[in-house]
Amino acid sequence: MINIAIDGPAGAGKSSVAKAVAAKYGYIYVDTGAMYRALAYKALENSIDIADAAMVSDMLSSTKLDIAYNELGQRIILDGADVSDYIRTAAVSMGASDISAIGYVREWLLDMQKDIAKNNNCIMDGRDIGTTILPNADVKIFLTASVEERAQRRYKELIAKGEDVTFEAVIEDVKTRDYNDSHRAVSPLKKADDAIEVDTTGMNIEQSVDAIVKIIDRSTKGE
Ligand code: C5P
Repeated sequence: MINIAIDGPAGAGKSSVAKAVAAKYGYIYVDTGAMYRALAYKALENSIDIADAAMVSDMLSSTKLDIAYNELGQRIILDGADVSDYIRTAAVSMGASDISAIGYVREWLLDMQKDIAKNNNCIMDGRDIGTTILPNADVKIFLTASVEERAQRRYKELIAKGEDVTFEAVIEDVKTRDYNDSHRAVSPLKKADDAIEVDTTGMNIEQSVDAIVKIIDRSTKGE
């Protein structure tokens, strides 16, 4: 199986780029952030305090998470219901950042993520794919962009969805998530030593996709 890992901070364009690249090669696209988001969504919906380890652990023991694919792409199925359309809010983003810092939450998801990669040609995006989940991935990419540009992209996305946010609030959120994701004790966001860094500041999606396709072709076909 061909496995491609794409890691990087929030808003670097990982999901848009990974989706397009996956479609080009006919691989599946695996958005691991959606898994953390679905767990955070469940915690928020059930008033579970993410800081309360016992409550989160209880929640996991009665949780079933699956991914499915349809014409809309990856869908995340939480306890039998498709929650994909409810997990992109600012509140769920912050919850996902908090819940993903818990070691046993990461462990709970680890086998599921490894299994998908074992059985499929895939492009998997996240924070620790190249370092922890798929250390032997065929290609590892670390996608970045300036914090201002990443916040700008996120802001436009949220506004387009009708959320009532200010740019200042979004940039603060992005900075907090960057800090949390790169300073947590377990599997912090970190470029794998053998990952290729692509800075998408000033690039649109097409240009970012082109840059990544070149890297993949060079690595897998020796072009
Ligand atoms: O990628 P996305 O922004 O959807 O991820 C939401 C949150 O989930 C991130 O801020 C990060 O804290 C966490 N995450 C993670 N490891 C992954 C994917 C996401 O810790 N592999």
